[in-house]
Amino acid sequence: MIFSDSELSRVEIVELLGGANDEELRARASRVKSGTVGDKVYLRGLIELSNRCQKNCLYCGIRAGNHACERYELDMPEVEQAVRYAYEQGYGSVVIQAGERSTDEFVDFVERCVLRVKQISNGTLGVTLSLGEQTEAVYRRWFEAGAHRYLLRIESSNAGLYERIHPHAGHSFERRRESLLTLQKVGYRLGTGVMIGLPGQSLQDLADDLFFMRDLGVNMCGMGPYIEHPDAPLGVSEYSLEQRFTLALRMISLLRIMMPRINIASTTALHAIDPCGRERGIAAGANVIMPNITPAIRRSNYKLYNNKPLTDIDLSSFDVQYNHWGDIF
Ligand code: SAH
Ligand code: SF4
Repeated sequence: MIFSDSELSRVEIVELLGGANDEELRARASRVKSGTVGDKVYLRGLIELSNRCQKNCLYCGIRAGNHACERYELDMPEVEQAVRYAYEQGYGSVVIQAGERSTDEFVDFVERCVLRVKQISNGTLGVTLSLGEQTEAVYRRWFEAGAHRYLLRIESSNAGLYERIHPHAGHSFERRRESLLTLQKVGYRLGTGVMIGLPGQSLQDLADDLFFMRDLGVNMCGMGPYIEHPDAPLGVSEYSLEQRFTLALRMISLLRIMMPRINIASTTALHAIDPCGRERGIAAGANVIMPNITPAIRRSNYKLYNNKPLTDIDLSSFDVQYNHWGDIF
């Protein structure tokens, strides 16, 4: 298949996801990246604030129903330690991620964390939150405290598949979609993403995921392969790990071509499958890496999926852009 200059159609995308023309796909994504966001890699320091969660997503290792999971929450000195590290290393921003909770204590704590990041860094570190679905009032409070980006994955844009990978109680595709719109309304730069290679997911579904992100006009995307967790009930994918990995790279390249100027993360789940996973994600068209800066003793408890890497990433192979938020708008 030869690339036309016009926009990729759904049929073409499905063919490319099927491996119709890998080399040309990667070369084109690479050209688009160089000509728009450039070839630097932007760093976001990932702070895994807590693995407590009120939700029960069927794929996730820290779901509320997993009683085998030892729960933790960082205290403020641990958060400060991570933030100082990010600041001293010249990171552009930090991502505060955790299981979803809506208690007043949690909302207050997050607000205080955001304020501390801004104080410690004299306002220079950007703050991204990834804390699930919250009310508009809570999104607004955190925004006013200084968080300006939010990551909330749609997980799958196929409503039927979304319903199959989440229990009925407490989860709804429509509410997730509305949360994304609310975040945009409040003023966040919005990031979303999907899991790739879910049981029952087709290439057409993945093509539709790409259109979903384009139509929503997201500013960031983090997507990666689905990886089974032994204590999560969703079960085994019909795609091999290798197939999921390859599909994830193709998704990154396609999204870079469809949305040339957005920030695309090369995610940790890629690294869980291949030791060079994040490097290959960057080569496929991603421009963001999120090294884990959670204090080391807590990391083993934040286990979303099997084989999640616990060690620090070696950044020497990347052309890193330090002291920069990575905004190209
Ligand atoms: N609780 C927040 C943030 C933490 S979960 C939220 O749900 O948004 C962050 C992401 O981890 C989820 O969006 C999901 O896409 C991913 N994840 C969870 N379990 C996974 C698995 N088994 N394989 C791959 N990714 C997974
Ligand atoms: Fe909780 Fe997020 Fe895991 Fe769902 S994916 S169970 S909301 S941590």
